[in-house]
Amino acid sequence: MRNAGLGSWPSRRAAISPGRAALIFGDRVTTYAELHSRVGRLASQLRAAGVAPGDRVAYLGPNHPAFVETMFATYVVGGVFVPLNFRLTAPEIDYQLQNSGAGVLVYGPECAATVRESKQVASLLRVVPLTAYEQWLADGEPEAAAVAVSLDSPACILYTSGTTGRPKGAVLTHGNVIWNCYNLLVGVDVAGDEVTLISAPLFHVAALNQCLLPTFLKGGTSVIMPSWGTDECFDMIAEHRVTWMFGVTTMYAGLAQSPRWADADLTSVRNLIVGGASIPPELIRIYLARGLTFCQGYGMTETAPGATFLEAPESADHVGSAGVPVFFADVRCVRPDLSPADPGEPGEVQVRGPNVTPGYWDDPAASEQSFAGDGWFRTGDIAVVDDDGHYRIVDRLKDMFVSGGENVYPAEVESAIFEHPAVAEAAVIGVPDEKWGEVGRAFVVLAPAQSLTADDLRAFLAGRLGRYKIPKYVDVVDDLPRTGSNKVRKAPLREIPLPG
Ligand code: ATP
Ligand code: MG
Repeated sequence: MRNAGLGSWPSRRAAISPGRAALIFGDRVTTYAELHSRVGRLASQLRAAGVAPGDRVAYLGPNHPAFVETMFATYVVGGVFVPLNFRLTAPEIDYQLQNSGAGVLVYGPECAATVRESKQVASLLRVVPLTAYEQWLADGEPEAAAVAVSLDSPACILYTSGTTGRPKGAVLTHGNVIWNCYNLLVGVDVAGDEVTLISAPLFHVAALNQCLLPTFLKGGTSVIMPSWGTDECFDMIAEHRVTWMFGVTTMYAGLAQSPRWADADLTSVRNLIVGGASIPPELIRIYLARGLTFCQGYGMTETAPGATFLEAPESADHVGSAGVPVFFADVRCVRPDLSPADPGEPGEVQVRGPNVTPGYWDDPAASEQSFAGDGWFRTGDIAVVDDDGHYRIVDRLKDMFVSGGENVYPAEVESAIFEHPAVAEAAVIGVPDEKWGEVGRAFVVLAPAQSLTADDLRAFLAGRLGRYKIPKYVDVVDDLPRTGSNKVRKAPLREIPLPG
């Protein structure tokens, strides 16, 4: 076989299952045959615009079939796909356009203002708004063969979520993406009749590589949500008989706290996958109690993303665990001197394998810092591994703080706060303190029509956490600052002055 690259996938799928629905978006159904033909026309337009193998093509916009078509068309011509986070500002987008060196941009109408404000857009070869996209596609020549690529060549540049700083452009090769699909398919029984709800943003690695591509590989159907909403999610699950989805903690918490939760028809659902940030065990129990399969995965953009996974048969017995290393990757938990941490001892997670990025695009310094030698990628996450090899993700190294000489992991404190029935969301940071060095400060969003005082919360936590972990400060806030992939950004919280 000359070409196993992602650009060959639409034609291979169209040959096997031409009439099956590949994508559903609102009333619009795109079969695999239609997708293949549309991708071919787009690919010829990209080539006409000057895109040669290795050139970058960017997409900016909320979830839409055009995202998927542009991605595959880029792969057909041997290009590198650069999905951008539509919630970023024009200067942030400009950095990513400049860093990736994208020559073509396809964008949704929701992003017209960002594109107008962008300084970088003017220097691109070709800019296609979705309003002109159908005509552009229709004018393209039907295109047949995909350019053959080596599995080591870059397929996409995915910018990290920017939870801890400026997003970094992780390069994923065709091989990285394909091995991640295999890892996912080992852990989840994705079938040809799968109906996958794409509920998270496609520019993020989880929706793209953990949901859409494995579904495509198996010839299932991806139902694309333009944006997240709990009511929309319930409606789509019922209407399309959705069989699985990926979500982050806030999404699953929103569903479980919705007035529709009790009566929602979830009978079609075979698998729910959660990951991307810490997950309160209490939330997992709510789903398990309903008889739903709820599997935690841990990973990151740089590992394409799966690193560890808790398979369904294990999930009820290991609540709170992120599972064991995925099939095709090595994962270790080490001390700062790289010696192995003992069972139960917190250490840094490092990952090596065919799913691990070769490095960041045009950022040799960041790439260099991210590897510990011998191919081991430093995740910057702390985990403990128990006696039977299960990983529990404790927190990020950067978020840990030290109070009175004891390490405090905010994620543990957040999980305990989440158990309070009045709490919808919580984020904890360490702040300077004269006596203890650092103490905790909790930012809490209340569930509708609830009230909670700082003393009430501290009294509630007193039975659950050691004293040094109980936040000295509690701020009730309306919402928390979040990244495009719905993770809490702690940097803006650290800027908020302490009361008094
Ligand atoms: P940036 O690297 O720009 O700061 P980010 O790390 O949030 O942003 P992603 O690649 O989207 O960008 O997220 C990966 C990170 O998410 C992991 O390194 C880890 O900190 C966190 N994470 C992922 N899955 C889990 C999980 N199951 N439990 C706890 N944390 C998780
Ligand atoms: Mg990261």
